[in-house]
Amino acid sequence: MTGGAGYIGSHAARALRCSGYEVVLYDNLSTGFRRLAQGFELVEGDISDEAALRPVLARVDAVMHFAAHAYVGESVENPRKYFRNNVLAALSLLNSALDTGIRRFVFSSTCAVYGIPGQIPITEQTPREPVNPYGASKLFFENALEAYSRAYGLRSVSLRYFNAAGADESGEIGEMHDPETHLIPLALAASAANGPGLQIHGSDYPTPDGTCVRDYIHVNDLADAHVRALQHLERGGDSLTTNLGTGRGHSVLEVVQAAEKATGRPVRRTMGPRRPGDPPVLVADPAKAQRMLGWAARRNLADIVSSAWMWMQKNSSGT
Ligand code: UDP
Repeated sequence: MTGGAGYIGSHAARALRCSGYEVVLYDNLSTGFRRLAQGFELVEGDISDEAALRPVLARVDAVMHFAAHAYVGESVENPRKYFRNNVLAALSLLNSALDTGIRRFVFSSTCAVYGIPGQIPITEQTPREPVNPYGASKLFFENALEAYSRAYGLRSVSLRYFNAAGADESGEIGEMHDPETHLIPLALAASAANGPGLQIHGSDYPTPDGTCVRDYIHVNDLADAHVRALQHLERGGDSLTTNLGTGRGHSVLEVVQAAEKATGRPVRRTMGPRRPGDPPVLVADPAKAQRMLGWAARRNLADIVSSAWMWMQKNSSGT
């Protein structure tokens, strides 16, 4: 598993282990954390480093590829970094996997491949027209996987995540981003008396309360989908691409209310301007994942926010 010391990878590693798989984590720790890899074999290396990668690939039957840069704003400022890692280095990984005989591949894709969708909910048939280099880099790799599947028989599942959030219910692992730019951790932090307030990015969107609507999906529901994706490939299933979302949208203000409920404290916030590149509404049609993988999200926004809050409290107290 590449990126196994990251936020979503570390949750997927635990889900795989619970289902009886042995997992080797491969991570260069550029944005990952040793702490999130605790209890697992961790090989430190870059996905573009063929020499470091090959002996690891030789020991596994399948690759789950989580290692990527994932800040939309940064991808606009520094596209070179995104194309180098998410395209060039990822292709090098894919070729190494192919050359080592691996024929099962699970890829972390994103709803950012859809850009600003013309229809809601978003199905997998919605045109893929990314509006930032991050989405473009992920779309490139989806296309590479499709071509490799046809030409070389390397079967893959591309999972288009909507807004990943929340933390493992054990309290042992959770979201760790530096800098943190995501709504839920920032809203929770803004409930602390001395923390920075939350800035709401835009209140004049064509949505019921004027703030953006997103489909927030619990990280452990995502993790479960990865196990099912691998099982699909093991059963001999064809390559496929699917959305991973709940099918329910929540506005920024609804998230703020959920954060206030979880913390029991007011979230200090100010209304700010729109953030460039933010579509008004992104909500998944999750029917295909249900049909093809037997998967559906089991946790709702309240579960997401309360698990994130538990993790944040545990984390800030240094335990
Ligand atoms: N958001 C916000 N204030 C913040 C961070 C995010 O209002 O400080 C909004 C953002 O505009 C978007 C939603 O919250 O509508 C989710 O943003 P996030 O960065 O968590 O995820 P993204 O949708 O960019 O993947």
